[in-house]
Amino acid sequence: MCINVLKSSAAEVTKRIETRDLYNVAQELYDEHSCQIYLLDHSTKNLIRLTPEDTAGGCLDDFSINMFIDLAATADGDAAVMQFTYDNEKKAYEGQKFTALAPSGTHNVVCIKNAVSDKGYEFTVFVNTVVSSGGTSLTALRVMTLSVSLIMIAGAWALGFYISKAVAKPIIKLNGAAQALGRGSFDTDFSTAANASYDEIEELASTLQKAQSDLAQTDTMRRELIANVSHDLRTPLTLMSGYLEMMRDFPTEITDENLEIIRDECERLSSLVADMIEISKYEAGNVPIVYENFDLTAEIDSAIKAYSLMLEHHGYKLYFEHNDDIWACADKKMTMQAFYNLLNNALTYTGDDKTVWIYQRLCDGFVRIEVTDSGEGIEKDKLHLIFERYYRISGSHKRAAHGTGLGLSIVSRVITAMGGRYGVRSAIGHGSTFWFELPISK
Ligand code: ADP
Repeated sequence: MCINVLKSSAAEVTKRIETRDLYNVAQELYDEHSCQIYLLDHSTKNLIRLTPEDTAGGCLDDFSINMFIDLAATADGDAAVMQFTYDNEKKAYEGQKFTALAPSGTHNVVCIKNAVSDKGYEFTVFVNTVVSSGGTSLTALRVMTLSVSLIMIAGAWALGFYISKAVAKPIIKLNGAAQALGRGSFDTDFSTAANASYDEIEELASTLQKAQSDLAQTDTMRRELIANVSHDLRTPLTLMSGYLEMMRDFPTEITDENLEIIRDECERLSSLVADMIEISKYEAGNVPIVYENFDLTAEIDSAIKAYSLMLEHHGYKLYFEHNDDIWACADKKMTMQAFYNLLNNALTYTGDDKTVWIYQRLCDGFVRIEVTDSGEGIEKDKLHLIFERYYRISGSHKRAAHGTGLGLSIVSRVITAMGGRYGVRSAIGHGSTFWFELPISK
């Protein structure tokens, strides 16, 4: 409570002293400032409470008339303001004058104003109020509320700024990087784009980084595929049209040997197209698996015999090592296709000894077929890529000019579809061993 409010209230009452609206003014002041107003008549030593009896606040009600007279005596000059505590037991008060805001801990403050009316009537007006237990006056409370509001606004602004910096900024950066990725820029670094202190944002960044590297890899493969396929299709076509033109212009060139070359090229073309159709069928998921129990050992043995007959005069040697005949529970056609793909690769990539070994082993209810060659082997960092479709190790192999990069991908798809497992062991200079495992029939 501001002293000036008490003083101006006392002055207001003094002004209205012999008027009819004295009580109304007191009521208004009470309503506005919660203060009790008393009037001491000096001549009769009578005390009148101007504010209604049923209103609460202040403790002057407990004062005796003599205490009021004492208080009135303390007011010299214009008006005095006292703050005091009242001891109910001792019926006494302890007070002191002050001129500033009500100090902390003060409960009661009273403004005492002595005056004389126009008609010579001597009186004292007491305006008494209670300040909050925290000891703060209304003005101080206002100042405090304002300061708290300002601090909260500043805090909210700082928090908003921090959140925008810590959360929104990395997300905006990530969004920009993702848009760049969408436009086909595969070299965006999401980790530095995010650079955030939140786990979730870092996780998002690493997911995007992974998606970006997958996309980059797919894009590279797509480019390689277009290059490979167009090359693979063009080479036999060019060769065939060259030979055909030559035979048309020089009929003496229509020899069995030249016709054989054209037939080989036709075969190569059709096997390329067949592989492509095969893989797209597997990818579309519309190849039904027909499980049956069949003698896997016998099937492989007869396939090897047929190959050996075919390749003997080219110097190739095939060895098949196995114990008992094992029956597998799988799709026979798919199983043999996987085996042929591995065998064809081994024959293509094996070393100068032109030898390929096939092993049959048993492990944990599975039969394992291993195809080992004596070729150059595969670098460790390429091993996880070779089962990807269209992946070919470029330029490192002598006899691998015509692959499609689909053979191993078909192996991986059919073996997995039949509930089997597959893999490769290889080391540079020590050849490669490709294998697959299938459940044994019960
Ligand atoms: P491709 O038709 O090109 O042989 P594959 O999917 O069968 O396609 O093989 C993918 C790549 O894996 C090949 O291009 C080759 O580089 C490598 N590869 C496959 N088998 C062997 C092997 N036995 N020895 C060395 N490299 C191999």
